[in-house]
Amino acid sequence: MQPTSPDTPNAHTKASVAKRVPRQDLVVVGAGAAGLSAASIASRIGARITLIETNRMGGDCLYTGCIPSKALLRAAACAQNARESRRFGIHLSEPVIDFAGVHEHIRRAIAAIEPEDSAERYRILGARVIPGSATLIDRHTIRVGRETIPTRSIVLATGARPIVPTLPGLAGARFVTSETVWELKDCPKHLLVLGGGPVGCELGQAFARLGSRVTLIESGSRILPQEPKTAAELLELALRKEGVNLLTETRALRIEGSDPHAKLVVSHTDGSQASIDFDILLIAVGREPRTHGFESLNLLRKAGGLLATNDYLETSQPGIYAAGDVTSALQFTHVAGQQGAYAALNALFRPLIRLRWNQSPIPRVTYTSPEIASVSRTGTRLSAVAKTITIPLREVNRAVTDGAENGCALIGINKKGCLESATLIMPHAGEIISELALAIQERLPLGRILALIHPYPTYSEINRRAASVWREERMSGLGRQLIRVMLALLRRLGKGHSG
Ligand SMILES: Cc1cc2nc3c(=O)[nH]c(=O)nc-3n(C[C@H](O)[C@H](O)[C@H](O)COP(=O)(O)OP(=O)(O)OC[C@H]3O[C@@H](n4cnc5c(N)ncnc54)[C@H](O)[C@@H]3O)c2cc1C
Repeated sequence: MQPTSPDTPNAHTKASVAKRVPRQDLVVVGAGAAGLSAASIASRIGARITLIETNRMGGDCLYTGCIPSKALLRAAACAQNARESRRFGIHLSEPVIDFAGVHEHIRRAIAAIEPEDSAERYRILGARVIPGSATLIDRHTIRVGRETIPTRSIVLATGARPIVPTLPGLAGARFVTSETVWELKDCPKHLLVLGGGPVGCELGQAFARLGSRVTLIESGSRILPQEPKTAAELLELALRKEGVNLLTETRALRIEGSDPHAKLVVSHTDGSQASIDFDILLIAVGREPRTHGFESLNLLRKAGGLLATNDYLETSQPGIYAAGDVTSALQFTHVAGQQGAYAALNALFRPLIRLRWNQSPIPRVTYTSPEIASVSRTGTRLSAVAKTITIPLREVNRAVTDGAENGCALIGINKKGCLESATLIMPHAGEIISELALAIQERLPLGRILALIHPYPTYSEINRRAASVWREERMSGLGRQLIRVMLALLRRLGKGHSG
């Protein structure tokens, strides 16, 4: 009997009643970044593997996360460039936003990437791909619909979903999350964003640039709490300049009234209350792991309900591994992808091979304008470094030619002059951070970056500029004196020659 297509669930279910599935080496639950990476490596090495997906192959990144959000940001940047063009002597009128056209651009981006993640591609690689929601029966058995799959090992890669807080009156309001915001047919007139993390900031800025009035409320004292204060301050400045009404230390209490007259009642730290009207409420207050179907095994949890794993990504149940947003506090596609591969190899070769995850620094990027990219040695916080070198972006000639001086680099170094952490707040920060991530990973002293020729004029020169400042400061009084003596000596010798 042939595996059935994921597009024909009825046919699949009927067929599976009679199907005897051979024992698998690995079953991967969830086909997002983590699950696809696990399935890819397992099939390429010839393992007998089943990949189960209840929704769409590709997961959040492709349909509701990285891809649509970055496509939206690109469209929003076009509108903003037009508005700012007069700074460069180009006079354009206020852009007309065709929201359906923006959606078409997003759809095209998804469609172009979709084949990479398709069931067909994974079947060609050798995986058995089946649609449906997986339930764990025991450590070696998974059920999907009426099919029971025996397996030697399991990787859980079921991701996370947006948290919807229990806000009184919410049911009567028109609200969206990062999952459903993509279904909006019209650009909201007044978008009220709840949450000043990366998702709230990226989407808030995008909609403001596309013509929405945007209010962003954050209960903490600043946005982007995971980033250095300077980064948050520079972004706050940029958002306010673009017209975003940013309210920090503001807590959502309840919704009063109902759509289209709903208002969010908020409290400020001084105890005062206010109500804010809105058209659409975008809830971006964090994500919770998807663990439905795993109840029978009582898997241990850590903070935020994430599945607890050891250094090898194995859960509290031997032979069951977890990867991606379902276990990781660092919820990024690049983390999910790498964890998926490690989890798959550990699951397949247990107990012969154990690969410890993760020894490398993990870069993270918030794709706002200015873009913010950070990386640090695993476990090191910025405050733990011996010294932080700050280079303002106006010292980078490319930023000057681009009229983009609102930014800086914060480079943290240890006593030996090796990089410990870095935050770049500038255009293309996400592209430039990799050089610094490599330096951190390889424990390179800043002198090595100084020795590398960087193309001119580029933003990446900021890394070299930081290295040069470090070298300058490091040169001791004795060193300077020695150089002066050498120069004086050479001058005298030169005189002798010319005479
Ligand atoms: C708006 C937004 C923007 C983002 N932008 C970026 C970015 O620019 N860069 C970046 O690195 N990260 C970004 N992220 C984060 C990124 O999308 C996630 O970290 C990544 O998608 C996690 O992959 P995953 O495989 O762990 O989970 P997912 O992609 O969520 O995949 C899990 C899959 O498991 C399936 N599933 C769940 N339960 C079951 C079950 N019981 N049986 C079968 N299947 C099941 C789900 O349907 C889903 O398809 C963004 C997130 C959001 C919300």
